[in-house]
Amino acid sequence: MNTIYFHDTMQGKKVEFVPRIPGEMSMYVCGLTTSNDSHVGHARTAIVFDVIRRIFRKNGYNVTYISNFTDIDDKIIQKSHEENITPKELAEKYMHRYIDVIQKMHISEPDMYPKVTDHIPEIVTAIETLIENGYAYESSGDVYFHVRKSEEYGKLSKRKLDDLLSGARIVPGEKKKDPLDFALWKEAKPGEPSWDSPWGKGRPGWHIECSVMALKYLGNHFDIHGGGQDLIFPHHENEIAQAEGITCEKPFCRYWIHTGWVTLDKVKMSKSIGNVFRIKDALQQYHPNVLRYFFLATLYSSPLEFNVEALQRAEKNVERIAISMRRFKTIVPRKTTERTEIENQLEEFCVTNHEEFHSQLRDNFNTPAAFGSIHLTLRELNRILDVQGTISAAVYEKIHLYLTEYFETLGFVDIENTTFLYDTEELVESLTNLAMLFELTIPEDQASVDDIVSLFIEKRAHARKNKDFALSDKIRDKLQECNIILEDSLGKTSYRLEKQ
Ligand SMILES: [Zn+2]
Repeated sequence: MNTIYFHDTMQGKKVEFVPRIPGEMSMYVCGLTTSNDSHVGHARTAIVFDVIRRIFRKNGYNVTYISNFTDIDDKIIQKSHEENITPKELAEKYMHRYIDVIQKMHISEPDMYPKVTDHIPEIVTAIETLIENGYAYESSGDVYFHVRKSEEYGKLSKRKLDDLLSGARIVPGEKKKDPLDFALWKEAKPGEPSWDSPWGKGRPGWHIECSVMALKYLGNHFDIHGGGQDLIFPHHENEIAQAEGITCEKPFCRYWIHTGWVTLDKVKMSKSIGNVFRIKDALQQYHPNVLRYFFLATLYSSPLEFNVEALQRAEKNVERIAISMRRFKTIVPRKTTERTEIENQLEEFCVTNHEEFHSQLRDNFNTPAAFGSIHLTLRELNRILDVQGTISAAVYEKIHLYLTEYFETLGFVDIENTTFLYDTEELVESLTNLAMLFELTIPEDQASVDDIVSLFIEKRAHARKNKDFALSDKIRDKLQECNIILEDSLGKTSYRLEKQ
């Protein structure tokens, strides 16, 4: 079995993955609070862990992947009043909407989506255990986790209790002894959903659910716990304190993986700020394959800016792949095992590239580098098809197998039939016609929108150099009629596509 390396937040460095049980990988990822439509930040997390699961599977692991739904909390209760439905109805509405967009995005779902409200008895038992073990106390109907009792508190987020204390306050109405403590159980307020407990009617605090459900479905010391970077503190820190307080065993889980923020205008996308871009809106403008490419073109742990330029870059890349794949799928291979000299080289190149592809993914899930391998394979393939039109069946089969495997591992569905913001064929056709007007020669096969526009940009730069501004303006205006907007900046010209 091949070794997989990745950055573990707890150890603060890249480590070799050693599973709890050989050949098995168990993973828990914090899911959605179902109080609103999910935004593209949630989509990133879902895609990243979908791909991480695929990479482990490809490397021979049997994967169990669990992600929860928080279906009761303050926001859900508040929003249910606004929408004039019960909190349960509200949670179910957004849960179904989430599952719907996740399926539309072709994100393969976790093996299970446990919900908080289905686990109240287990949560109550866990809180009783924490009280028995001296980590929690009851205070007039509420139960709090006593942070100072947890000796290693802060070990994931690398925070010290004294530093935390300076920012901690007791909010009026809270009945905790120490500002650092957090609620495990909250006494019911009138009109709120509540459940029976030894401390009276109430509902669980936010953090306890993940400790309880992860331990229930994956057991002590499961392999990987994941989530967005913003959950490291306090949520994941609290999960560890609770779980290790319940089981009296360490560690809660063996490794921690966190995805980076998605930003909009450089500010972290967040429901509380309101700068969100919903997944369903993104899907109206971009094909799922384009969105997937966009998310995976940046390393999972880096911040990612959600903007039109980056999405159009992803679109151009997917278009390039789709064109090459369509070409590849329509060639008729020679029915022979004999290879020409350049086919031998192509085959060799593809074998090396195939190894590279997988070793890049095994090295901290480096999807941007893996895209590089795909583009290189297709470029080489196109080069040889330009020379000899087709290839032998044996080489064809091998490359076909590799390419299928690449797209499967990264979770692309039917990539050659990806549709774009614009109708590619139509746009290529009108650009080709326009090119004749400007006496530009377009390479016959597989010219992408990007390739053709580059020719126009070159021609225009040349015209400007010769002070033929009438021509350069004409080029710009004619392109604009095709919804292609040229932009000059720092002596370079780029373009963007404007939706019709
Ligand atoms: Zn969680």
